[in-house]
Amino acid sequence: MSDLLIMKFGGTSVGSAERMRASARLAAEAAGSRPVAIVVSAMSGITDLLLGTMRHAEAGDRAGMEANLANLRRRHQEACRELLPAARIEPVLAEIETLAAEFERLANGMALLNERPPRSVDEAVAAGERLSALLVAEYLSAQGTPAEAVNAWDVVVTDAVFGNASPLMEATRAKALQRIQPLLDRGVLPVITGFNGATADGRPTTLGRGGSDFSASIVAAALDAAELWIWTDVDGIMSADPRLVPDGVVLAEVTYAEAAELAYHGAKVLHPKTLAPLADRRIPVWSKNSFAPEKPGTKIVASLREATGARAVASMTNVALVTIEPASIELNGVQVMARALDAIARANVEILLLSSSSFRGNFCFLVRAAELEPTLQSLEQALALELAHGYLNPIKVDRNVGMLAAVGEGMQGKPGLASRIFTAISRERVNVIAIAQGSNELTIAVVVNRDGLEKAVQAVHAECGMGASRRKDSQT
Ligand code: ASP
Ligand code: MG
Repeated sequence: MSDLLIMKFGGTSVGSAERMRASARLAAEAAGSRPVAIVVSAMSGITDLLLGTMRHAEAGDRAGMEANLANLRRRHQEACRELLPAARIEPVLAEIETLAAEFERLANGMALLNERPPRSVDEAVAAGERLSALLVAEYLSAQGTPAEAVNAWDVVVTDAVFGNASPLMEATRAKALQRIQPLLDRGVLPVITGFNGATADGRPTTLGRGGSDFSASIVAAALDAAELWIWTDVDGIMSADPRLVPDGVVLAEVTYAEAAELAYHGAKVLHPKTLAPLADRRIPVWSKNSFAPEKPGTKIVASLREATGARAVASMTNVALVTIEPASIELNGVQVMARALDAIARANVEILLLSSSSFRGNFCFLVRAAELEPTLQSLEQALALELAHGYLNPIKVDRNVGMLAAVGEGMQGKPGLASRIFTAISRERVNVIAIAQGSNELTIAVVVNRDGLEKAVQAVHAECGMGASRRKDSQT
């Protein structure tokens, strides 16, 4: 293992010329004493803007496209003028124009076809990260830290699942050594685009929304880095969302498994897939705030010396609970479930929670509200006959729900914890609709009425002593 440090800067950390300056300073400082490579997101809001432009294109809304394209150019041109010394402004404006024009060409193609092929979307949307990488690399170089923007489609090799690709690590390792290592050897700081990659035969892909964290961990694993620092706009991984729980605290250390569970269940600080590539090599990760770099942040490690109960509670609104129920006991419930899950998988939808324990073969699962439409379409197609003939009751959907998940390695083999969590929720008169706990006992996930979510989260946080209150208790 080398001394290599990978830093990842999220959208708000490169969201303006001022933020790019602050982030570049953090990278340059570290690069003074060890090799550093950085991975950047698009400037905040740009990925949404690009995706919105392509939706306008598909709908034939020329005016919408034009407005977005003007906005895209303006944000990056402004940042360029604010950041760079006079001599570099014109050449970099020209490079910005090349990237913007390339995006525009792809969007125009979509407008002609009235279609947004996933493959073209992936190629086009990478413009956001390519633009931010260009600006950050130019600024670093101008400030005396030689840097080079690297398009991750020359580094991260993935499968061909456009919009949600997975890395092929062996191939990625080879490419990373070929493209990144020579830069490091020459003392040049690579500024790598997050979010995107390419198949082995060179077709551009992306890793899914928020995927730049995942990009950074893929690069860290591929180059066998010593550490990964993920810079965001919050102080680290918290015991609960501070907007719901004012006495939530930043956790000093969490395990890979805990961080992944928290991210999966709604903690926005990290993409849930981030930790997977690092676990083998036990590469430690720091989650830090680029707006307050002096704060220690959270360290994410393979294991903790002492695991203590439930450590944090994550929560999600914007979810929907889908229930499937056979109308007749003659229907084989397991087969229905198998076909339903297959249909959901084909729609590329993530199930957040799944629960079944009924003689009738009734089962329910939770999906993101944004993924409800494709979920229902795919289910209705797969189960059309049973639904038409009344063997299955109509699929039920409840959007008025929220989910909370209590997470901690230390919950394993601890009797009484589930009872305390449910007692705390019921004390608040919040009704529990569905429950799931996997046999690894890392997470207890609970679906409640949306109205009750906030109270339930606060109750669980207090009952399990996750926040400041526990510190006070243990001092007395
Ligand atoms: N820019 C991409 C997104 O907004 C990736 C990222 O920010 O991590 O989803
Ligand atoms: Mg992001």
